[in-house]
Amino acid sequence: MTDFSKYLVEANLIGGDWRLPEEGASIAVSNPASGVTLGHVPRFGAAETSEAIAAAAAAFPSFAASDLNTRVALLRRLHDALMDNQDSLAALLTAEQGKPLAEARGEIGIGAAYVLWFAEEVRRSKGEILPSPVNGRHMMVTQHPVGVVAAITPWNFPSSMLARKLGPALAAGCTAVVKPASLTPFSALAWGKLAEEAGFPPGVVNIVTGSAREIGATLTTDPRVRKVTFTGSTEVGRELIRQSATTVKKLSMELGGNAPFIVFDDADIDRAIEGAMIAKYRNSGQTCVCANRIYVQSGIHDAFVRRLSEATAALKVGDGAEQGVEQGPLVDQAAFDKVAELVNDATANGAKIETGGGRHMLGGTWFQPTVLTGITSQMKIAREEIFGPVSAVVRFDSEDEVVDDANDTEFGLAAYVYTRDLGRAFRMNERLQYGLIGINEGLITAVEAPFGGLKSSGIGKEGGSQGLSDYLDTKYVCIGGL
Ligand code: NAP
Repeated sequence: MTDFSKYLVEANLIGGDWRLPEEGASIAVSNPASGVTLGHVPRFGAAETSEAIAAAAAAFPSFAASDLNTRVALLRRLHDALMDNQDSLAALLTAEQGKPLAEARGEIGIGAAYVLWFAEEVRRSKGEILPSPVNGRHMMVTQHPVGVVAAITPWNFPSSMLARKLGPALAAGCTAVVKPASLTPFSALAWGKLAEEAGFPPGVVNIVTGSAREIGATLTTDPRVRKVTFTGSTEVGRELIRQSATTVKKLSMELGGNAPFIVFDDADIDRAIEGAMIAKYRNSGQTCVCANRIYVQSGIHDAFVRRLSEATAALKVGDGAEQGVEQGPLVDQAAFDKVAELVNDATANGAKIETGGGRHMLGGTWFQPTVLTGITSQMKIAREEIFGPVSAVVRFDSEDEVVDDANDTEFGLAAYVYTRDLGRAFRMNERLQYGLIGINEGLITAVEAPFGGLKSSGIGKEGGSQGLSDYLDTKYVCIGGL
């Protein structure tokens, strides 16, 4: 096992100081595979969050005014620090989150790629000169960093979700206060160390762990914070939107999903199985873009289910730190109980277990990779985010029927379609109410592309050029009397 002790930091970063809590005021962080405590982080609250906001506000004017070249160089060094330490950062991520090492390495890699992307993209963030309707006037549109950014991140991608927020914030010239998930704070605190190593000035990046409610309420109501960027559940996102209303902040919300994965009779079945395996079982089903409802057209249904069940049963389950493991444990007991409840509800209402169905023989929070058939849209498993390694297969007959069913949800994050009919591919892009659509692709995230949901899945985009504009304010200036 790679040594990750260098990046296991048990303190918070506020204004360039690493702060420890009073005795007893800490949160224990454990490895979901072994149950062993990895370490402790401070249980801070409103007071420390206010201090972090003050530090970020104090650091903002000079950081915003720094040369573009300086910020780009800092971001490049941050990228290099991530990649130079990819193995130890991945080992730390696996230890606190449970995902297989190969996925953790991939997460560190894409996080670094986001940092590099925004370092490049900020050089292209142009303003505009507009044609004036009358002579003697000059009209310009200019872009400016929004100010202090509050970033709240989830446990399922504790490193790359931060990269999608810190990357553009720092590129734009913003300063930040980060609140990571309590289950996986070490991957975020490591970013504090990396930012220091890269040479970011004190106060530019601040990281506070502790009471989500207190920290969240302080960040959303403090007028010095100009933007809140959140990735997590729709329920918490709604609360943060409400809280931010009093101080009218810019918002980015990456919220929950309920992705349909649609396989038509004319699909390339090999490709569809490969796509389903990655779209369903990555991070043991704990991703916001995971296939939640797998719709298979009648003509191909039985063959697809047979192949999917074989591939699912063959997945190697174990401690993510072990070589070759493809499915780690679920992040905690509550996550396990939620998945078990959805499976039990489905089977009680007539779903059939094709493989798996319950706790894995390893015990703990390992859930067997599972395939269920006979799912109907009334079952809870088809309406809620499963967040576990369970394929819920729905049989369908017509294109109209599957479009109606797929859109019959408050969510609109990711959707996948497998078809060899070009016309149908374009129709599905038109008709599916989702922000991310994979056609004959099961893994579509890319730093160059805007990532984000429609409807209750969120507001704003991360990645692409849009991911940077969300951290910039636009000003219009009219110079008259020329
Ligand atoms: P969560 O419970 O909403 O928590 C996310 C973050 O919000 C954590 O840091 C959490 O802190 C914090 N939080 C919880 N209650 C809060 C409050 N009242 N005020 C302020 N902050 C609060 O979500 P999760 O279970 O960690 O993550 C899974 C969810 O994230 C899923 O719904 C998934 O779909 C979504 N997600 C979406 C995307 C996307 O890009 N759209 C990507 C990944 C995940 P504590 O940990 O301290 O409670």
